[in-house]
Amino acid sequence: MPTYKAPIRDTEFILHEVLQVGEYAALPGFFEAEPDLVSAILSEGAKFVEEVTQPLNQIGDELGCIRNDDGSVTTPTGFKAAYDQMTEAGWGGLAADPQYGGQGLPHVISTAFEEYMISANMAFTMYLGLTQGAIAAITAVGSNEQKQTYIPNMVAGRWGGTMNLTESHCGTDLGLLRTRAEVQADGSYKITGTKIFISSGEHDLTDNIIHLVLAKMPDSPDSIRGISLFIVPKFLINDDGTLGKRNSVSCGSLEEKMGIHGNSTCVMNYDEATGYIIGEQDKGMRAMFIMMNAARLGVGMQGLSQSEVSYQNALSYAKGRLQGRSLTGAKNKNDQADPIIVHPDVRRMLLNIKAFNEGARGLILWAALLVDLAEEAETEQERTRADDIVGLLTPVIKAYFTDKGYENATAAQQCLGGHGYIREWGLEQFVRDARIAMIYEGTNGIQALDLVGRKLVRHGGRALRSFMELLRSFIAEHGTTANMTEFVEPLERAVNDLEAATSWLMKNALGNADNAGAASVPYLYVMSLVSLGYMWARIANAALLALSNGTDEAEFYSTKLQTARYFFSHQLPETSIHRTRVEAGSANLMEMDASAF
Ligand SMILES: Cc1cc2nc3c(=O)[nH]c(=O)nc-3n(C[C@H](O)[C@H](O)[C@H](O)COP(=O)(O)OP(=O)(O)OC[C@H]3O[C@@H](n4cnc5c(N)ncnc54)[C@H](O)[C@@H]3O)c2cc1C
Repeated sequence: MPTYKAPIRDTEFILHEVLQVGEYAALPGFFEAEPDLVSAILSEGAKFVEEVTQPLNQIGDELGCIRNDDGSVTTPTGFKAAYDQMTEAGWGGLAADPQYGGQGLPHVISTAFEEYMISANMAFTMYLGLTQGAIAAITAVGSNEQKQTYIPNMVAGRWGGTMNLTESHCGTDLGLLRTRAEVQADGSYKITGTKIFISSGEHDLTDNIIHLVLAKMPDSPDSIRGISLFIVPKFLINDDGTLGKRNSVSCGSLEEKMGIHGNSTCVMNYDEATGYIIGEQDKGMRAMFIMMNAARLGVGMQGLSQSEVSYQNALSYAKGRLQGRSLTGAKNKNDQADPIIVHPDVRRMLLNIKAFNEGARGLILWAALLVDLAEEAETEQERTRADDIVGLLTPVIKAYFTDKGYENATAAQQCLGGHGYIREWGLEQFVRDARIAMIYEGTNGIQALDLVGRKLVRHGGRALRSFMELLRSFIAEHGTTANMTEFVEPLERAVNDLEAATSWLMKNALGNADNAGAASVPYLYVMSLVSLGYMWARIANAALLALSNGTDEAEFYSTKLQTARYFFSHQLPETSIHRTRVEAGSANLMEMDASAF
């Protein structure tokens, strides 16, 4: 049976020693970021996921969701009780606004807990994640009345949320969508169409489900510029806030899929369902992007979380499995064989995952802190800078973390040899579950286009300039400190690769858009590695500081430095190969006729 232990000490190290969240104590919610309180939250959260949701992960995978003849959907045994326990304890509303019943904690703290939730049970946590995305959209563009009607019930977990974009003929190119919205005399709309692949579209966990649906009005442009966003509740809401009659939205079928079996993926039929416009007519994509940006960081977290839980299980196996002898002589003389962790290749696989996980944890928590600062920092300049950098990091985290999540789950599976392929050990489930994160919320290829085509050029390249200034000033500050040079020098080489790749894009992509398309994924990889390199340099700096101040956790900090060395020597140099790919341009990719493939 797979196991999971929330990495509390690692989280605390990132929060307090690397990001130093205590420095922001004056900002709303941050007084709660004081170490003892954070420890209490993380420990209680860890207990909840380890005892309640993780034991349901394999069960959820095996049983899956069931669509009943009346169109209702039953989640796997145990999910409803665990969901009720989660909402009673308030785990769903950690970062939500207190005016709607949330606890008002900073995102950086709720994101730390989110990692534990997803590692323990990704399919279960998706019910919560979709609701939080819907809350973000209603908060951003909903009317006051809509906010009061929906958000408190969603924060409390009584009502769920979904996002309905995809149709059978369109996923990436939403301008093609056909779902129609026709205005009624009372100002509501009749929504008609079929959406597919809708996560948490129907289930038995909540009293109501608030669907956010993209649709076109008859007089709107038949393109991406003519899409509006609608709230379509499963049960209509009476004037007194109680649930009214059932709306004509239903789950036509459940998709049969590779993983995340515990989460219902539904075909949703809207048969003149009553909907209410949210935000402005034809500006639905803007609202949906607000929801998707929050969701994209959440999907990036799915990559890290599956990588972490896979690593933990591969590591404990590697310490116990006796096979072969160490190349440099027996290490376990009392047995006939050594544990496989003595073999360099097994260590390579484990360290590849460990170095990603710890750097990625730092990077995603930093991104969450930037989300807090974008909302709450004291000056306009600080808020803009935080917003710019998190905008740049969002496609990086979504795409790179999920590519790595899948790759690392597979590498962890490899550590178990044949046993990794057998269901009982759980690794094959992590591989299957991790795979979807590369696809939904915009495929990873589309994330790379978002980075190159939108985020780099927005506001005349302001975000990248801010990011580069940050990197260069870190290098200038720490490059001359003797014990930091082994980290800062390779970081500087990687930053040079990023700068060169960016200049190549500026020179070659403006006149030929295929060059931007061809370069987008390798460019995103350069940016991702540089971002992780920056985080690893900060981690190394914090570890060196702790060691020089004297600590009774010398092994913990020394291991951080060893892992940092692995990252800088084995992983960061990949920037140069990705830069070469960027500079290879699109000619070779595009010259072949489609018929010749
Ligand atoms: C389990 C699951 C859950 C999901 N949950 C939801 C949900 O809750 N709500 C929802 O609305 N949707 C959901 N989706 C849908 C998901 O977001 C889409 O599948 C995804 O956005 C891709 O769309 P598509 O499948 O139509 O692929 P396509 O758009 O057909 O893309 C196919 C391939 O072509 C590439 N491609 C397409 N256009 C371009 C381009 N312009 N440039 C470069 N490459 C391109 C893509 O990257 C991809 O590799 C879910 C899907 C699954 C499988």
